[in-house]
Formats: sequence, C-alpha cells, structure tokens
Amino acid sequence: MINRPILMCVLPGAVWLCAAQVQPNAGLQKVVLENDFVRVVELRIPAGVSEARHSHGRGVTIALSDYNNEMTDYPAGTVTRRHTRFGEVRWAEPVTHEARNTGTTEQHVLRVELKHEAPGELSGAAKAKPDALDSLIVCKDTQKLIFENQFVRVIEERVPPGVAQAKHRHAHGVLIPLADSDIEAVDDPGGQPTRRHLQLGDAGWREPVVHAVRNVGTTALLNIRIELK
Ligand SMILES: [Zn+2]
Ligand SMILES: [Zn+2]
Repeated sequence: MINRPILMCVLPGAVWLCAAQVQPNAGLQKVVLENDFVRVVELRIPAGVSEARHSHGRGVTIALSDYNNEMTDYPAGTVTRRHTRFGEVRWAEPVTHEARNTGTTEQHVLRVELKHEAPGELSGAAKAKPDALDSLIVCKDTQKLIFENQFVRVIEERVPPGVAQAKHRHAHGVLIPLADSDIEAVDDPGGQPTRRHLQLGDAGWREPVVHAVRNVGTTALLNIRIELK
C-alpha cells in the first residue's frame, strides 16, 4: 500500500503529479505543535507497519510506548534494530530513512524537530553567565539533566505529591508530561498562583519563565523539558 504511489514516479514526466499526490506516511504522523522554533510531530505506528522513506530535521524524540523497530538509513543503507521503552529520550541528527515497527505494540513517539540551524546567539551568550536561578541548581532534588548539547538542554522533572520547588528559571522550549499531574505555579515577578492540569503526552510550548511550582495533586509529576539554547 505504501509503495504504490511511489511506483507512479517512474513514469517520465509524472514527477509533478507524484510530488503533489505522494503522502506516504499520512495517517501515521501529525503535527501537534508548531511555531518559529520547533515542529512537534506525533507518530503512531501500528505493529508491523512500515514508514516509507522520509527525512526529518535534528531534534529530540520522546517515547510514549514500549516498542521494537528497525530503521534503514540512507544513503548508507545502514540497518539499526532496537527496543525502546516508554519515557526514553534521544537526540537525533538530521536523517533520511525507512522504518518499520517490528514488534507487537504500537510505536508512539513525539518528535521535537528544531527549525534553527544554529543555536541562538543571544541566549547562548546569556547562558555563559552563572545563573543562581538555574533550575538544575535550585531544584537539584527534583530536576536532573538527561543530556545537553549546543542546541538543547533536556531535563527530567520528578516532583512527588505535596512537594514544592523554590523559584527557578527555564529557557523557552517544549514541555512533555509523561504522567498526569496537578500543579500550582507562581510566575515571577508578581504572578498569582495558577493551577494547571498536566496530561500525559500533551506537548506544550513554554516561554522563558522564572517560577515556583508545587505539586498540588495526588500523583507524581513526571515531565520532560526541552530547553532551547
Ligand atoms: Zn523517521
Ligand atoms: Zn519549573
């Protein structure tokens, strides 16, 4: 089914028709968030289903299910097979590949693609200063660095019910809850306490903020925060 539209491309002169009609992976992925900085794509690949050859930009992938898949990268033709677990977070360089869900479970993934080819110069310079409100310092018990490179800083937040985080800073970026939780946040300066429900898999853009946060629910907060540089 997936290959049929591609066969149309071999007809001489049919290239334009092809380009207009081929959407080989339609239905398997959808854009759930897009702005000047990122495009967040949700993939849902049923067991046994293949994605036709496609490309995507650099960014971060977050697994929302346990799954097995096989990927063939081009032009090298290198084949990679792996098992991925719910909550795994990976950095991905730009790639052109085919992929197939080789397991028995749905592959459910959020892919945060970065639109800028280089890190922002202003935020990069600002980050060079020591920051007393750095969330990894202020919230060292509840926030830990998963990885960092010249484009992003990726943080896992775990906040048990009833626990509060003192005032701390975040750069702008994408927040992805890996569990349902309820928080009360006070933005600095002068913000009123605001309650918010965070829902598993509901990716959201977050502007730069200084805030204090308390888990006011009965479930543990578990978030992945991708801060852009
Ligand atoms: Zn892909
Ligand atoms: Zn925070």
